[in-house]
Formats: sequence, C-alpha cells, structure tokens
Amino acid sequence: MEKVLTSNVTILNHPIINHNLAIIRNKLTDTQNFKQALKKISYFLVSEASKDIPTKHVKVETPLMSTMCEVFDDDTQLIIAPILRAGLGFCEVASELLPFANVHHIGMYRDEDTLEPVWYYDKIKKILDDKSKVHVIILDPMLATGNSAVDAVKNFINKGVYEENIKFVCLISSPEGIEKLASAYPKVKIITASKDEGLNSKGYILPGLGDAGDRIFNTIE
Ligand code: URA
Repeated sequence: MEKVLTSNVTILNHPIINHNLAIIRNKLTDTQNFKQALKKISYFLVSEASKDIPTKHVKVETPLMSTMCEVFDDDTQLIIAPILRAGLGFCEVASELLPFANVHHIGMYRDEDTLEPVWYYDKIKKILDDKSKVHVIILDPMLATGNSAVDAVKNFINKGVYEENIKFVCLISSPEGIEKLASAYPKVKIITASKDEGLNSKGYILPGLGDAGDRIFNTIE
C-alpha cells in the first residue's frame, strides 16, 4: 500500500480505500452502503494505527512442529477511544481487530457557534500505573478544526499517557485540523485516508462527506 508521510501524518493510499471513499463522499449513498464502505476502510486505518503496538514471541505447536510466533504483548494496555458519536463508526472494526483493548468512549460534541468541543462523558477503567505500557488509539472520522482532537489527546496526556503512544485515526482530515493537532502534539501519529481541501465557515470539511454522525446513524433532517 502506498503511503504519503508528512512528519507524523500518514495518508493511506490504496485503490480499495479510494473506491470506498468515493462511495462515502457521494451524497446519494444511503446509510447501509455508507457504513459498509466505512467498515472496509476502517480495516486499513486501524491496522496502520496498531502496527507498533508492542508484541512478544511465543511458542506455538502446529500440527507438524513447534514454531515461534509473534502475538500482542499482554502487558500492554491498549485503549480504543471513539469520540461519540461518529467515532463509533470505527469501533466495531477496531474491537474486532484488537479484542483485548479497553474501549473508552469520549463524549464530546461541537458547539455549532464556537466550534469548540463540549464534554459530556469521559469514563475509563483504571489506566496502568506503568504509563509506558499504555497505548491509545483515538477514533473520529473527521479531523476538521482539530479542536476536539486536541482536547481528546489532552485528556489522555493529563491521565499520564505518553504523547508518543497516542494515535489519532480519522477517515478525512483538513489541513487546518492536521496543523492544529500536529503543532499541539507533534508526537501523536495521525492516520487518515484523505487530506481534503479545507474547512467552510461552519467548520465542515470540503469536499468532505457532510456530517459523519448523521450519515452513519441516518439522522439527516
Ligand atoms: N464533522 C463532520 O461530521 N463533518 C465535517 O465535515 C466536519 C466535522
């Protein structure tokens, strides 16, 4: 898979991703097809985000002989953090690929006037005392203004998580959002399927896909 890397930003480029992104962007795509296309892209994004989660080697008996295999290190605490509600669109795939992860829902919505995030939910089971073993993958389909992304990262930094152990996964990003998150937290890896043109006056990404939550949950008025 071809990748475009700019500092800590990885923009995945693959025909399956691009094909499904076209389905997702199309305003005529219904919720069912939107979710299916999002799911297919999620496998790529979550795989990329989890590629440096610590592993260890274990002995496995095949029907023919024993061999050493690489598995995730169970000393690691992996936290998947979907930002409600659109982040839930990635959550099924993330939990399927990383079933040992704790899911930490972040309840945050965007004030439509100020475009600032408003928190309403932040709950997690205990984070390991040894913070070097804690890894976090934050999930939000849209990195728009970057305000929610910065707040979500700050929340984990305040809990002692190392910046370099945090990934931010988004389907579509804006140059403004990338700039905001990367300048606040340069060690956070951003993984996205597209860097779009920019934001409109209401903070929507152009060309984008509209409101991700509305399209996932079929709540377009
Ligand atoms: N959130 C969305 O759902 N869409 C955008 O374009 C920006 C933020």
